[in-house]
Formats: sequence, C-alpha cells, structure tokens
Amino acid sequence: MLTGRAGGTGSTMYTTLSPCDMCTGACLLYGIARVVIGENKNFLGGEAYLKQRGVEVVVVDDAKCKGLMDKFIAEKPELW
Ligand SMILES: [Zn+2]
Repeated sequence: MLTGRAGGTGSTMYTTLSPCDMCTGACLLYGIARVVIGENKNFLGGEAYLKQRGVEVVVVDDAKCKGLMDKFIAEKPELW
C-alpha cells in the first residue's frame, strides 16, 4: 500500500483501501501529511488515529476502488 515519495515529510499518500494498522503506523513514522483513501466500505482502518495525530484524511469513496476490492475479495477469499 505504500506508494509515492516514501520518506518525504509532508507528502501525500494515496491508497486504494483504508489503511491497516501497519500502514497507519508507517504513515505516522514517515511524516505523511495527507492520506487520500479510495474507499473504506470493505475495511475501515486507522483513519481516526491518523486524524488524531494531525494527518489530513480524505476519503474519496471511489466506485472503481470499491469495485477493485470487491473483485479481489471474490477472487482471492483466502488472501482476504
Ligand atoms: Zn496495510
């Protein structure tokens, strides 16, 4: 899920799905200022914690991201 300019303080992170605990921690560790999340219906991650720590959180609620996750969950239930 880590994309973009890793380690850049003040960077924006773009994710397909709401970030899990590990990704939430990585965002905080690397000083990510803003996280743009494709969708959070299939999984709701550490958004509240990010906000609490001063990170701007934007949930796009994008149908393509939701569709991508729905397809992945249907095809690879053992990985989900
Ligand atoms: Zn993660």
